[in-house]
Amino acid sequence: MRVAIIGAGIIGVNAALALRAQGAEVTLYDREGVAAGASRGNAGIFADYAVLPEARPNMRRQVPWMLLDRNGPLSIRLRHLPKLFPWLKEFIREGQPERVERSTQGLSALMRHVRSDWDRVLRENDAEDLRVARGALHVYRTRRALHAALCDWQVMGEHGVAYTPVMGSALQELEPALSTDYQAGMLLPDLTHALDPLGLTERLAEKARARGCEFRQTEVSAISSTETGVCLHFPGAGTRQFDRAVVACGAHSNKLVRPLGLRVPLESERGYNVTLPEPGVTLNRPVCVPDRGYYMTPMSIGLRIGGRVELGGLQAQPRWTRAEVMLRHARSVLPGLEPKGAKPWMGHRPSLPDTLPAIGPVPGQERILLAFGHGHLGLTLAATTGRLLSEMIFGTTSETDASACLPSRFA
Ligand SMILES: Cc1cc2nc3c(=O)[nH]c(=O)nc-3n(C[C@H](O)[C@H](O)[C@H](O)COP(=O)(O)OP(=O)(O)OC[C@H]3O[C@@H](n4cnc5c(N)ncnc54)[C@H](O)[C@@H]3O)c2cc1C
Repeated sequence: MRVAIIGAGIIGVNAALALRAQGAEVTLYDREGVAAGASRGNAGIFADYAVLPEARPNMRRQVPWMLLDRNGPLSIRLRHLPKLFPWLKEFIREGQPERVERSTQGLSALMRHVRSDWDRVLRENDAEDLRVARGALHVYRTRRALHAALCDWQVMGEHGVAYTPVMGSALQELEPALSTDYQAGMLLPDLTHALDPLGLTERLAEKARARGCEFRQTEVSAISSTETGVCLHFPGAGTRQFDRAVVACGAHSNKLVRPLGLRVPLESERGYNVTLPEPGVTLNRPVCVPDRGYYMTPMSIGLRIGGRVELGGLQAQPRWTRAEVMLRHARSVLPGLEPKGAKPWMGHRPSLPDTLPAIGPVPGQERILLAFGHGHLGLTLAATTGRLLSEMIFGTTSETDASACLPSRFA
C-alpha cells in the first residue's frame, strides 16, 4: 500500500506514523516543511473536554456584541465578508439545537479516545517528555459569569469531563500570579498540555522518517483518481502514482479538494499568539480566559498566550494589533506579566461550520481521503485522526464511531 500524505502538520505527521505502523509505504509532502502551518504555534492544549461545537443557539445574540467590542474575542475583516458569507450561513444553521446535539455526539465519540491515542503515540515515539498533566483553570471575573457558563459545563460533565468550581481567594491559591479581579474559576484537573507544539510535531516527524516514511518538500498542485489508484500532480507537470492519497493541508485543503467536485465549507479561523520567553510570572497550569477567547499556557519555550478568532481568509496580512490587544488584556489578568521579548505569530485554524473535522474518503473517489477541518482542536484530535485513517485505509474494525466526520456529509 503506497500512500501519499499531503501536508506535514500535526495531522499529516500522525497519519504517517499510523499508516507506517500498519506497513504502508508512506510519502509525506509539504510545500514548506514540517509544521509550517497552524501546528507550529497553537496553544498546546489537549482539549478533550471540548465536546460542545462552536455554533450555538444563543450565538445570534452574542456575535453582534462580540464584533462591536474591538477588544473582544472575535473580529471579521470586512473585505472578506462576501467570500465568508456561505460559511457564515452554514455556521449559523449549525446553531440549531438538533445540529448542536449531533455535533456534540460526534465530538464526544472522538474525545473519548484522545487520551489513550496520544498516550500510545507519545510512548511509541519517545515523546512523553513533551506533554505534561497539570490540569487547567478557566477564569471568570464574577460568580455570575461562571454561573452563565454552568449549563455548558454540565453538558461536558455528562460526557465524562471532570471539573471543579473554584471560588474567591482559592483561585489565587492555585495561581498566585492571577489578579484578584478574578473571583470564580473552573478547574479541569485531568487536562494535559504540550510543552512545545512545534517541537512535538518535529519529534514525531523525525520518528516517522526513522521508521521509513519519505519526506518531500514539494507543493502538490492537484490529485486525480486513476483506474487503480491516485495520481499526484506537481507544479511543472511532474506526476507520481500511489494507491491512496490523504489530503491534510489544513486550511489550504480546498485547493486540492474543490477540483474533485466536492464542496467542503472550509474557512480559516485566524488565530494569534505571543510567546514570552521570560514572562516574569509563573503559572502552574494553563489558564483560559473564556470571555476573551485565549489560553495562557506555560511551555518549555516560555509562556504562550494564544487564541482569538479573526475571520479574514487565507491571503490578508496579519493584523498584529490583535495580538497586542490579547497581550494587553493578559497583563490585566496576570499583573506581573513581563512583555519583554514577545514574539507574535498568526496561524490559520482549518474550520468547518459544524466543528467536526472531515475524516474519510471523498464520495465516489474512495482512494482519496480527507483529514482536515479540525478547527480549534487539531492538536487534540491528531493522534485519533491518524488511527482512524489507518483503520479506514486498511479496513480494520474501529472502536470509534467517526461516522459524523465522514466527508459524505458535504456531498
Ligand atoms: C492561535 C491558535 C491556537 C490553537 N490552540 C490549539 C490548542 O490549544 N489545542 C488544539 O487542539 N488545537 C489548537 N489550535 C488548532 C490547531 O493548531 C490546528 O487545528 C492544527 O494545527 C491543524 O493541523 P493540520 O495539520 O490540519 O494543519 P497545518 O498545521 O496548518 O498543516 C498544513 C500543512 O499543509 C501544507 N500544505 C498546504 N497546502 C499544501 C500543498 N498544496 N502541497 C503541499 N503542502 C501543503 C502547509 O505547508 C502546512 O504545513 C490552535 C490554532 C491556533 C491558530
